[in-house]
This record gives sequence, C-alpha cells and structure tokens, in this order.
Amino acid sequence: MSSQAELSSQAEPQFGALRLMAVHAHPDDESSKGAATMARYVREGVQVLVCTLTGGERGDILNPAMDRPEVKADMARIRREEMSRAREILGVEQKFLGFTDSGLPEGDPKPPLPPGCFALTPLAEAAEPLVRAVREFRPHVILTYDSSGGYPHPDHVKTHEVSVAAFEAAADPDAYPGSGEPWQPLKMYYFVSFHQAKFAALHEEMLRRDMESPYTKIFAEWEERARRRQADPGYHELEITTRVQAGDYFEVRDRALLAHETQIDPNGFWFACPLEVQRAAWPTEDYHLARSLVDTELPEDDLFAGVRESVSL
Ligand SMILES: [Zn+2]
Repeated sequence: MSSQAELSSQAEPQFGALRLMAVHAHPDDESSKGAATMARYVREGVQVLVCTLTGGERGDILNPAMDRPEVKADMARIRREEMSRAREILGVEQKFLGFTDSGLPEGDPKPPLPPGCFALTPLAEAAEPLVRAVREFRPHVILTYDSSGGYPHPDHVKTHEVSVAAFEAAADPDAYPGSGEPWQPLKMYYFVSFHQAKFAALHEEMLRRDMESPYTKIFAEWEERARRRQADPGYHELEITTRVQAGDYFEVRDRALLAHETQIDPNGFWFACPLEVQRAAWPTEDYHLARSLVDTELPEDDLFAGVRESVSL
C-alpha cells in the first residue's frame, strides 16, 4: 500500500506543537464531519492531518451540474483534485492511505463488494498504513467514526475498525515492526455530526424566523428510526461529551464542502439552513470521547482538554 500512499503536503511533526489527526473513509468526509473544528484548531496553531483511507473512486456523482460521462470516467483523478482544493481551504495537511473505495452496495439483495476493495481487506493489513501514519505524525488526538460508521457505508465501518486497531497498535513495540517508532495517542473521539438535538434546534430556529425548514422530512424518518431503536435493547445513542465552538468557521467548512464539486449539490440539503441560523441555534461541532489516557472532566469544550497539561509545550 505504501507505494500508493503519498503526502499532499509534508506532515513532519513539529516539536512542541499539539497535533490532531482526523481519519476518514473518502475525500469529502473531512469537509462534512469536523471541518470547522479543524479549521479553528489550525488557526490556533495546532498541526492537523487528515488521513483519507480510500480515493473515493466508486462514489456517485451527487451534484446534477457535474453529472457528465467525462467526469464519471475520470472520478479517481477528479476527486484527488477536489480533495487538494478542500485541503487548502481548511489549511490542513492530508494524506491518502492508498485503499480502493468499496462503493455503497444498493439493491435487495445487495450485490457483493468488489474484490480488492478497502472493506474486504483483512483488518491487520488494512490498519498498517494508518499505524505507520500515526507513528510518523504522532498525533495527541485522533478523530474517527463510531462502530456504526455514522453512516451505513462499508468503508465507514471499516474506517472505525482500523482507527481503533491503530490507536492500540501504534503504541505497541511488538506490533507492526518496520512501520515506525511506537507512538501513543492520548485521546480518541467519535464524530457525533448528524444528531437529532442539533437538527431540532436548527428547525425550531428557522420556524421562529418564519423560514421554511428543510428538516421536516428527516424528522419523520428519525421518528421511524427511533421506534426501531427502541425495539433493540442493545442500542444506545452516542453521548455527546465534547462540544467545540466552531461557528466562526462554518463558512470555511462550506467552502471546503463546495470544493468537492462531484459530491455536493450547492442547491441541496447541506446549504438549506443559513449560517446565521446555525450560529444562533447550534454553534458547535460535537464529539464522543471514546478513549482517554489523560485526566479530563466531562463535558468538555476542547479536544485537547487534559492533553495541553500533559504535553510539555
Ligand atoms: Zn464517505
């Protein structure tokens, strides 16, 4: 895999800097989950590296204006260019880890996953490039998806699995010999991006301002989902432990999203709620603290709470 992996910009760890790594499945995921958080931390002097496990080659074209045969035929290259523009807008570093998009299987029954794709790669092999990246970049904090993937795409679920495996293995001197010097990340968070409390707050604020809410339809879907969840005693909502104030960076987030032209419809759902409504009703991006090797008090408003104190700056 390492022959395909490449650094889009040099991610040498800087002495004394706080470092944040966000692990994502496809190009565009970094702009829809935690983008404003990353933009804020970068501007506060934190080094931020996005690791993108696949090239997004099998993504559908979700913007009607881009739905042309010559675009479809050249998705791998176009998505790399889109990622490069989003990276510049966010101000982060970014690295592709070289796996092939598994695609979202659709239909009943679902078709089998394509041979050689990321989701079918055995876990020990799939985690190696991320272990190597963690040992190179030496992040204090890692962001990734929860065990559901946050979205039922096989690459998202696999991204969760390799992130958890790499969090453990990167620090283990007996694991992955030859893949760099051991490094122990201190905290790992799961994104809690598309949760009901946030959309309810946005919805109410839009109604309060006599605006037409785009969320009415998804509430009906959520109620249906909630009913199904109640029937599953093992199910529990991911608790929000950490809310990062990021409203000042929502505009940067939106510009990064728009850079993923094949994936984002500028007239679509993402942009249906004005920024001033978002800033008034829900100005944070939210996380669940999944692992911590430092002492911290919940709830938090900073991903580096307890880390700043233990890292000598
Ligand atoms: Zn994705």
